[in-house]
Amino acid sequence: MIIVREVAQLRQAIAERRQFGADGAKAEQGSAAIRPHTVGFVPTMGYLHEGHASLMQKAREMADTVVLSIFVNPIQFGPNEDLDSYPRDEARDLEVARREGVDIVFLPTVAEMYPQPTRTKIRVSALTDRLCGASRPGHFDGVTTVVAKLFNMVGPDLAFFGMKDAQQVAVLQQMVTDLNMNVTIVPCPIVREADGLALSSRNVYLSAEQREQALVLSQSLRKVREVSEDDVQNTFTIRQLYQMVETTITSSPLADIDYIEILTFPSLEPLLPEQRLSDVEEDIIVALAVKFGNTRLIDNIRIQKGEVLLHV
Ligand code: AMP
Repeated sequence: MIIVREVAQLRQAIAERRQFGADGAKAEQGSAAIRPHTVGFVPTMGYLHEGHASLMQKAREMADTVVLSIFVNPIQFGPNEDLDSYPRDEARDLEVARREGVDIVFLPTVAEMYPQPTRTKIRVSALTDRLCGASRPGHFDGVTTVVAKLFNMVGPDLAFFGMKDAQQVAVLQQMVTDLNMNVTIVPCPIVREADGLALSSRNVYLSAEQREQALVLSQSLRKVREVSEDDVQNTFTIRQLYQMVETTITSSPLADIDYIEILTFPSLEPLLPEQRLSDVEEDIIVALAVKFGNTRLIDNIRIQKGEVLLHV
């Protein structure tokens, strides 16, 4: 596994893999037997867990070369957010990467990523106004800008993102399409603890009591799944679905709701409260952001025309 901290080294390492292949043998020019070498990219902020590992596994399955980046991107954090306290453990992250068969790890410093104040920002409109975009102003501009920069550095064929951050997937898909970026976004399912809590680097902040009560998120989404799978209950309205989720979450005294939203996916358009679940033609997403103390957790479930795609 190659570990690089500078953009120039990263480009060099990827160019060598593209030219010489995984085993270092020079790819024969024009040989029909040799298919193009594909590069799969997994961008993360580190403190890696099984959710991240699942992206690396998917990348390992689909691409010849797997590139992992670990960078806590300051421009996607708001002034009162957890940039300084964001958990970091480089040595453990490298072990996870090695275990998952990553080829190249890119670990840039802030100065390497932003050698001068950025005057160019990528901004996706509309899709970023709601959900986490409303609660965290400027967050998605930071995400799209750093992901565009990373795409320019890595030049991946495939890029892997978790549906844990479903809005991020919708926003990045829009960016790639709008700007004709030559990369395919591969969304990957949410990985959960055995009891249902979606894995997140931020889970380490939770006290034992908060951790226990945080289960209301996945429990409420499990109820959504049950309702959407049940043909009779499918006459549920959006309002009833909302109330069911809200009741489950407010059963936890420590839960401080940031938002509960039911939207179309990936267009993220609001649905009418009296609309029946069974009458909605598009995919639906039920998305949650709930604070436990200072820790903000997100989770979601996607329903495709009555069929749940992502398992809670
Ligand atoms: P982060 O390090 O939190 O920025 O996440 C890096 C990538 O891992 C993003 O594409 C996330 O959506 C994805 N990810 C984080 N948690 C999970 C999870 N529990 N299941 C699947 N993917 C995840």
